[in-house]
Amino acid sequence: MILNISGIEVNVVRRSTKRVSMRIRPGTNAADMSVPMRMPKAEIVEIAKKLLERIARRQGQTLEEFSRQLKQNKHYSDGEKTMLWGHEYTLRIIKVRTPRYIFSAYAGKALPEDVITERLKYDIPKIELKGSEAFLYVPFCPTTKTFLIDDDDTDAEPTEFDRKYAFYASIRKLLFDKIEILLAKWESKTGMSCKSWGIRNVATYWGIYRHDKEHIDFNINLAHKPTECLEYIILHELAHSRQMNHGPKFKAILDKFMPDWRKTSQQLKKRGD
Ligand SMILES: [Zn+2]
Repeated sequence: MILNISGIEVNVVRRSTKRVSMRIRPGTNAADMSVPMRMPKAEIVEIAKKLLERIARRQGQTLEEFSRQLKQNKHYSDGEKTMLWGHEYTLRIIKVRTPRYIFSAYAGKALPEDVITERLKYDIPKIELKGSEAFLYVPFCPTTKTFLIDDDDTDAEPTEFDRKYAFYASIRKLLFDKIEILLAKWESKTGMSCKSWGIRNVATYWGIYRHDKEHIDFNINLAHKPTECLEYIILHELAHSRQMNHGPKFKAILDKFMPDWRKTSQQLKKRGD
């Protein structure tokens, strides 16, 4: 029996067991589920949904978000393809053992000073691009209680959560370094400027200029796009410091400094990452 739960294909097998188990097939948006012989279908569907919700919740996602991620086939695992600066790289996972407390999530809370200092010492997570490979250094600790690095447990692997955290922290750094250089370049080239800027993980815009604070926010996914796309967004948002809307005066600024901006802007309209 095959069920479709929020877009996830669940292959159900009946076994002479009293237990229900479920496992996501790595690299797919399918799951295998075993259930007791005589369990009614309605009950199986209900349990399947609950189990998938629980797996999603563990990754801090709703079932819908989790399903979308599975479909995109992004697990941040070794051998997976990823786009960076418009080029395709093969992801290579390098696990780096660290005390868990230093790299725990601190969801929403400000990091204590001593933890920030400790994090800096490790210089990870980071991503290094060499040839066609992207080496992702993932900080992780196999047990939550271990403070000191325990070399006995060498088989332990970072979880998908560890890898995803490391990936986003790393590409944020990549993007940050590039924006610092390119923003300064475009500010001096155009005479337009902003007071501050930041990087956000959002789905709704590539960049946004906030007039009240003279602040630009950039979408973290610009790191996947060719560098000229980032340059275009920088120019576009700087131009908003002079013109609020996208009228003829705004377009004249773009034409003056980047004659082929229309081509680049087209590239950003294509989805797929
Ligand atoms: Zn705009």
